[in-house]
Amino acid sequence: MSNVIQLDALTKDYLTDAGAVPVLKGVSLAVNQGEFVAIMGPSGSGKSTLMNILGCLDIPSGGRYLLNDTDIGTLAESELARLRGQVIGFVFQGFNLLPRMSLGNNVALPLVYQHIGKPERLTRATDMLEKVGLGHLVNSLPTRISGGQQQRVAIARALVTRPSLILADEPTGNLDSHTGREIMELFQRINREQSITIVLVTHDMTVARYAQRLVYLKDGLLAYDGPMSDFHGVEA
Ligand code: ADP
Ligand code: MG
Repeated sequence: MSNVIQLDALTKDYLTDAGAVPVLKGVSLAVNQGEFVAIMGPSGSGKSTLMNILGCLDIPSGGRYLLNDTDIGTLAESELARLRGQVIGFVFQGFNLLPRMSLGNNVALPLVYQHIGKPERLTRATDMLEKVGLGHLVNSLPTRISGGQQQRVAIARALVTRPSLILADEPTGNLDSHTGREIMELFQRINREQSITIVLVTHDMTVARYAQRLVYLKDGLLAYDGPMSDFHGVEA
């Protein structure tokens, strides 16, 4: 199996008026293709910072990030944009659907940037909506559906480019616990059936348990990295 993600002693400092604030302090991590990894950790521990770097939305201050064996530090912005558009699918806490656009067009949107023709865009968007159980709502508007359904649409949109990696930052954070579990069952099915690598941030252990592997961030370092079933908490 090959690594989708390899981080070597990754660091991230934010530059503020008070100087450089270290947030990630040397994170080393390898994620194989097909793994389902949950990232947990206290608020402010650097989870979103790490996800932004994994998603090529931000650059590390030090260390190295290999995505599918390519050192992202060597890439030009246009190549990073291509990775963001084709290799990575993003799912956010806030769903981020365009309110005036049909669900079908929302899901098809990433394909516009790949210059795929309209008929194929709609076919693929409809297929994806069917995969998440919402094929019948292809012409509906996001404002007409529930939060759980909106997150399903966002997952369909993340999958439509056939990415090798899905990054989800607190995807159940705006959902009630029952709906959150349904969304996690969907992630689990996508991971198993399509062997898409998933890295998901949550602060909820019941949500994290759907993943096979847990990475626990504390003060910018990994306090635990191993099988979910072996995790018994970290020292305060
Ligand atoms: P988490 O997602 O685990 O709650 P974050 O990665 O969002 O943590 O933030 C980690 C730390 O970095 C926090 O102390 C936060 O205030 C700080 N931080 C996040 N983004 C920025 C930024 N753009 N500029 C300066 N500090 C930031
Ligand atoms: Mg966060």
